[in-house]
Amino acid sequence: TTESLSDIQIAQAAEMKPISDIARNLDLNEDHWDAYGKYKAKLNLSVLDDTSRKDGKLILVTAINPTSAGEGKTTMGVGLSQALNRIGKRTVLALREPSLGPNFGLKGGAAGGGYSQVLPMEDINLHFTGDLHAITTAHNLLATLIDNHIFQGNELNIDSRQIIWKRVLDMSDRALRNITIGLGGRNHGIPREDGFDITAASEIMAILCLAEDLKDLENKLKDMLIAYTFDNQPVYVGDLKAQGAMAIVLKEAIKPNLVQTLENTPAIIHGGPFANIAHGCNSLLATRMALKLGEYAVTEAGFGVDLGAEKFIDIKCRKGELQPSAVVVVATIRALKMHGGVEREHLGEENLAALEAGFANLERHAETLRGFGLPFIVAINRFSLDTQAEVELLSKLCEDRGMPFAEADVWGQGGAGGEDLAHKLVEIVEGNAHDTFKYLYDVEDSVEDKLHRIVTEVYGGLGVKLTAQAQRQLQEMEAHGWDKLPICMAKTPLSLSDDPTQKGRPTNFHVTVREFRPSLGAGFIVALTGNVLTMPGLPKVPAALNMGLDEEGNIYGLF
Ligand code: ADP
Ligand code: MG
Repeated sequence: TTESLSDIQIAQAAEMKPISDIARNLDLNEDHWDAYGKYKAKLNLSVLDDTSRKDGKLILVTAINPTSAGEGKTTMGVGLSQALNRIGKRTVLALREPSLGPNFGLKGGAAGGGYSQVLPMEDINLHFTGDLHAITTAHNLLATLIDNHIFQGNELNIDSRQIIWKRVLDMSDRALRNITIGLGGRNHGIPREDGFDITAASEIMAILCLAEDLKDLENKLKDMLIAYTFDNQPVYVGDLKAQGAMAIVLKEAIKPNLVQTLENTPAIIHGGPFANIAHGCNSLLATRMALKLGEYAVTEAGFGVDLGAEKFIDIKCRKGELQPSAVVVVATIRALKMHGGVEREHLGEENLAALEAGFANLERHAETLRGFGLPFIVAINRFSLDTQAEVELLSKLCEDRGMPFAEADVWGQGGAGGEDLAHKLVEIVEGNAHDTFKYLYDVEDSVEDKLHRIVTEVYGGLGVKLTAQAQRQLQEMEAHGWDKLPICMAKTPLSLSDDPTQKGRPTNFHVTVREFRPSLGAGFIVALTGNVLTMPGLPKVPAALNMGLDEEGNIYGLF
């Protein structure tokens, strides 16, 4: 039975096809890809040159506000792509690539689950094809060029107290959040305070995910803000002339990676920017390739509609001129009950009143998607403890509000468990003749107007407040002409508001922006609310302590 097998056992028992078969089924020729072993390949950007192929339909998978009960967006995305292929729609999946460090903290990978996973899951979750190492290297190359510049005489007059560019590592290591460098005397650098972020939080990761090609990547690197001078003037990567060397370090990392799902559906896995201080979805190149190669392209945006889908649309779609044909909103009965006030330890008990109360969270997201003019379907991700009465109530609530929905059990049954969802989705996409899609705001609007629209029309709040620091930074951004960019909200994913304890559908709240960080290379303004950690730590009992290799050399304990 499914209960008795863990994700890693299912993955290890799977029959993968050689990656050459997967590529051939996509009508790719040998110039289009380079094998990285037997089951992984890098796709050359020439894949996008074929103008004879028409782009497929883009399906975005997102969710209600996450809870500790788990929603299963990735699992649903993988399962849906398998289901679409089963019903005869050639579908390609596009997903983020996982960060390695967090695997050793909490158990749980980022490659789907049950019978809807991408393979080889151990490789994907560990070093994969080295993209994160390349980003780490490019990032730290710039860091050492900055410190060397100061050491060698500091011609640019960089104020070492105002260096924004930190160092990165793909490891959860809280001890490196704040450090002092350059100790040891005059031959060993100029002492200053510094710190490490996790690689996924690097602006280079965000840039890699929005770049059109290697030259565009280099141009975006050049625009990154790295420090201020002693007279408070901005210093950019271009001032140091570091962009060329950084770009060559990334020449392979910019190529999307091709793998497959448990049912041999092609999956393009590439780029993994943090969903808080960046936009949180896979690379634009990966999405474009999935659209080029599939009749349907299924992709995922991190967290709920409020954070993930809003940034997917207002940042990524805008930059990449993409337009989703439909959105799949993943909801679970467990998570809705938590939004309705049930504690985690009572989720096993039927609770219709809580389900109905928590439904308000889902309904708010449906309103947001209607605001974007996007057709959507609610995917009810079935868990074994859901009761019949609960499923019927949720179905009725969706029906009453005119929200299309389908039950799916892709975790337990793979693509077969998602066929109903796939059929309904295809019906929505192919039956929808109107183009009503629109962005939430105009980038030319003022920063305050853009924020106001996000808070009122997506979060359901009253408006936005800026701290004194944020106000000062806003004036500075306006003075430099940096304010005509999309906003990248950094907010708790756990609530529609900026207070993680407010579940369900909070009302009568303001959102406070504490700080702005212009990501001028990536091309957005990060608006920070609450505390956002860019270097995670490990928990009391790290998952790493229960991992290893068995006698046959198989990995255990990784999921
Ligand atoms: P997300 O992408 O929303 O973070 P994932 O797809 O990674 O969520 O799923 C989170 C966890 O929940 C995974 O361990 C996955 O195996 C598990 N999961 C997802 N759907 C189900 C389900 N229907 N039943 C049991 N476990 C599930
Ligand atoms: Mg996910």
